[in-house]
Formats: sequence, structure tokens, C-alpha cells
Amino acid sequence: MPDAALPLDPAILPHSAGSALRRGITGKCPRCGGTHLFAKLLKPVERCRMCGQNWSIHSADDFPPYIAILLTGHLMAPVIILLGQSEALPQWAIMAIVLVLAASLIAAILQPAKGAVIALQWWLGLQGFAGHSGKAEAGVA
Ligand SMILES: [Zn+2]
Repeated sequence: MPDAALPLDPAILPHSAGSALRRGITGKCPRCGGTHLFAKLLKPVERCRMCGQNWSIHSADDFPPYIAILLTGHLMAPVIILLGQSEALPQWAIMAIVLVLAASLIAAILQPAKGAVIALQWWLGLQGFAGHSGKAEAGVA
């Protein structure tokens, strides 16, 4: 059984989708919370070094960028409106400020969004995690 993770003390497993999501958002292994979920900026580790969970079977696809763009758009809208009302700033300066802020926000949100999507897929047993969900493992109905 190559995808089998090591058995864990039930106290270490997350007890809700919220706690699994928090671990994923902070870049920790959603199953054990003991080590890093990501090997690189957006590439999850093959297997957790502590609990052995295989994270290569996730299928986050385009959902994390969608979340990052959605949140960035909503956070940037009032900033763009306020900057647009300013008569002190030239148009090129407003454009430069908006581009830098938007790119920075997207870059800052992408990894937490991907961690959240992977954690939610694992908790619910979606995609590659079908048949061994975190919810079932933790004994949550
Ligand atoms: Zn782990």
C-alpha cells in the first residue's frame, strides 16, 4: 500500500475542517501539523516527513489562483477607487502603485490558498484523497 500514511495518535489529527484548514493556510502538514507542507513556494512535499502522508496526490489545479485573484480584487477595489479620486497623483503613478500592490497581494495569498485547498481536499477525501479522508481518519461524522 504505497500511499499509506503512518498511523497517528488521534490527539495529533485535526478535529475539524477548520483546524485542518488553519494548518494548510500556515503551510503546515494538514494531517499532523508537525512540519512543512511546501517544498517550494507552490510545490507541496511528496510526503510528510513526520506522518508519511502523500501530498503529491492532491489536485488543487486552478482553485488557489482563483481564490488569490478573487481576494486581491476585493481588497484592491477600494484602493483603486480612492487612488482614482486623487488629483495629486498622475495616472501613471496610480497604475504603478496598483500593479505593485496587486502583484504583491497575489504572491502573498497564493501559497496559503493552495495550502487551504489541499487541506480541504484531504479533509473531505476529494480527488486523490478519495477513500482515505482526514474526516474519516479523525472519526468526525
Ligand atoms: Zn504530516
